Amino acid sequence: MTTIKGVEERLLCCLNDRLLVNEPMARHTSWRIGGPAEYFVEPQNTEELKKCILLAKELQIPLTIVGNGTNLLVKDTGIPGLVIKIGRGFSDININGGVITAGAGALLPAVARAAMDHHLSGFSWSAGIPGTIGGAVIMNAGANGSCISEVIQTVDVINRDGELLELGHEQLCFDYRISALQDSELIVVDAKFLCSPGDHNEIKKEMNKYIAKRKEMQPQGYPNAGSVFKNPPGDSAGRLLDVSGCKGLKVGNAQVSTVHANWIINLGGATADDVLTLICQVKEIVKDKTGVALQLEVRVLG
Ligand SMILES: Cc1cc2nc3c(=O)[nH]c(=O)nc-3n(C[C@H](O)[C@H](O)[C@H](O)COP(=O)(O)OP(=O)(O)OC[C@H]3O[C@@H](n4cnc5c(N)ncnc54)[C@H](O)[C@@H]3O)c2cc1C
Repeated sequence: MTTIKGVEERLLCCLNDRLLVNEPMARHTSWRIGGPAEYFVEPQNTEELKKCILLAKELQIPLTIVGNGTNLLVKDTGIPGLVIKIGRGFSDININGGVITAGAGALLPAVARAAMDHHLSGFSWSAGIPGTIGGAVIMNAGANGSCISEVIQTVDVINRDGELLELGHEQLCFDYRISALQDSELIVVDAKFLCSPGDHNEIKKEMNKYIAKRKEMQPQGYPNAGSVFKNPPGDSAGRLLDVSGCKGLKVGNAQVSTVHANWIINLGGATADDVLTLICQVKEIVKDKTGVALQLEVRVLG
């Protein structure tokens, strides 16, 4: 059994200045909430990523993957073990005919813009979603009646032995905000999308419309993680929370937005405990008033 000091020395020896110790996860989440990652690293390429995965395996420490942190609630106690952020080092976007290959760290709006510039449709729904391709594939992100699985052809992943695998659409078992990759230990490195030809101006118009709709319907100016709960079949979580009187409810510095009831905003200095307590409260209220048991869309880590 390697001691804590031994683990840190080995990580420092292999990752040197790339390794951050006790890195506040609040710096890496859109909610600006979250305790420290025991160890944090942002690899710059697949080889470095493999090295990190194999190190965590060798040292028998937990491994957690994050993207842009826009769908995450990290507990105040932080995350034990090694947290790997898939970011800029994986943000290449290549387009060949109707096929877009995007790294897991590429941001959705960047992919949507690149698709538009190449007269390709299939990504305009994602305008204004601040996540990465990796996070979007894992979550089967979607909006405006579309979702990412509709254009996915294949996804390249790395397993915990550092092996690269290519998964086809049918292996990913997509459903509403669900993919087989959730809780699977596989790490997305890139994905291929098959898009249809489209008209540049039409795509631009559509994207602008979606961005304007977001500005009108969604709270602006406070850190948040988008929708907190999934929409139950045939209904919307926002509507249920609204009719149950949850808008404006507060715990500490976390508040159910008065603009959109399915968003919880950080008024400044909110803790993960504040958010989790508020989540429990509103879930109970909605269950009592409507009989519907809401399910979390945001992922809780730590
Ligand atoms: C303002 C705002 C608006 C939003 N609007 C929408 C919306 O309209 N529709 C929607 O679906 N979502 C929306 N979201 C939520 C979020 O942006 C998406 O779910 C996004 O796809 C998450 O990507 P991420 O990179 O931030 O992932 P993270 O939040 O970092 O991670 C999400 C999950 O994916 C895992 N993960 C991330 N990257 C990888 C990887 N490379 N390999 C393996 N696992 C990985 C993490 O462990 C975690 O379980 C919104 C969020 C905000 C803040």
